[in-house]
Amino acid sequence: MATHEDLYAKACRVIPGGVDSPVRAFNAVGGTPIFVASGKGAYLTLADGRKVLDCCCSWGAMILGHADPGIVEAVSQAAARGTTFGIATPGEAELAERIVARIPFVDKVRLVNSGTEAVMTAIRLARGVTGRDLIIKCEGCYHGHSDGLLVSAGSGAMTAGDGTQPASAGIPTPIAEETLVVPYNDAEAVAAVLAAHSGRVAAVILEPVAGNMGCVPPKPGYLKAVQEAAHAAGALFICDEVINAWRFGLGLYSAAAGLEPDIVTMGKVIGGGFPLAAVGARAAIMDALAPTGRVYQAGTLSGNPVAVAAAIETLDRLAADPPYARLAAMAERIERGVNAAAERHGVPLRVQRHATIFTPFATDTLPVTNLAESKRCDAALYGRFFHGMLDRGVYLEPSQFEVNFVSAAHTDADIDLFLQAADDTFATLG
Ligand SMILES: *Cc1c(COP(=O)(O)O)cnc(C)c1O
Repeated sequence: MATHEDLYAKACRVIPGGVDSPVRAFNAVGGTPIFVASGKGAYLTLADGRKVLDCCCSWGAMILGHADPGIVEAVSQAAARGTTFGIATPGEAELAERIVARIPFVDKVRLVNSGTEAVMTAIRLARGVTGRDLIIKCEGCYHGHSDGLLVSAGSGAMTAGDGTQPASAGIPTPIAEETLVVPYNDAEAVAAVLAAHSGRVAAVILEPVAGNMGCVPPKPGYLKAVQEAAHAAGALFICDEVINAWRFGLGLYSAAAGLEPDIVTMGKVIGGGFPLAAVGARAAIMDALAPTGRVYQAGTLSGNPVAVAAAIETLDRLAADPPYARLAAMAERIERGVNAAAERHGVPLRVQRHATIFTPFATDTLPVTNLAESKRCDAALYGRFFHGMLDRGVYLEPSQFEVNFVSAAHTDADIDLFLQAADDTFATLG
């Protein structure tokens, strides 16, 4: 049987860093990245034969668990009919209807291949319909890897909204300068930047429940205040729900929270484990997309019939038997159990949770409300906790700037295993 070290060395010879997405590397926690042979339900079988409880769930996409028989059947049947045509297929509207039916302020969606594409399209749409160039985003929110969204700002420039600097090499300065960055959970900062750039901001974009600086829920009133500030300035309000959509309930977090964003993006869960995401809005905005409108967007594999079959099966299963209360109860057990054990062992690590998602932050001071606070957590301690859990059969996200997930395939016995592993790990850290 192959070792992770051998597989990693082999991969590194032909793939940069040995991984096809940097989050899979263990840069934040140290050690050799793991390789998966297969998954079934809540468990992964690793390439070295070990079995581990999976709390990554493909970054939230696998809400029904791995290799779910219904999904496997749906995609097998779809694949047998042909895997892509580059021509419209009836399933695309079937899926779009299911999405639109759950979101009061979305009349139409366009299906794309990734969250990155969905957000890129949302931004272009916002610019196209407003005729403005600037975008406001929150520090610590992730919106995919398109040029203009890989931007953060030094903390001094943040509230003033001037002086931006890309978080990646290869992004032209003029593009980075179109993105203004504010702290998350600070509506006044949004209003200040809108005022400083009056008449020039196309959209304010954020993750309603932030999931890319760890699990950071919005403060009461924050999202509504941002929406109002954006609208008062003639800017659109974009909710990036690539993680949030269908993760806390059927449909969007923003809809459940009584918000009315102008454009929304969805991915992960709605793709059913395939490369599928969506951008949605009212008809007046969506019809600005080509071929009806002048905002161009396209994709050879968009609305791919195999991905669409997985997505329809996922949304139908979630609607038929919503797992959300059970997922939240399991995540709450993790929150309470880990926090009690950490306290007992004197380890400064606490789980912060929103409904069905959670992050173990290496700090004893919650809440974490923004990126600056998230960054203050002890990265080295998190790395030791991560490896302690992995050694005891639990795979967590390899960074505390991420959220962990439970799936409908997780059971209370799995949560018992999780809590025992945490208790045993803390005993080595205290
Ligand atoms: C994962 C994610 C994206 C990017 O989606 P990909 O499918 O990885 O391109 C965008 N926005 C948010 C909020 C995400 O969590």
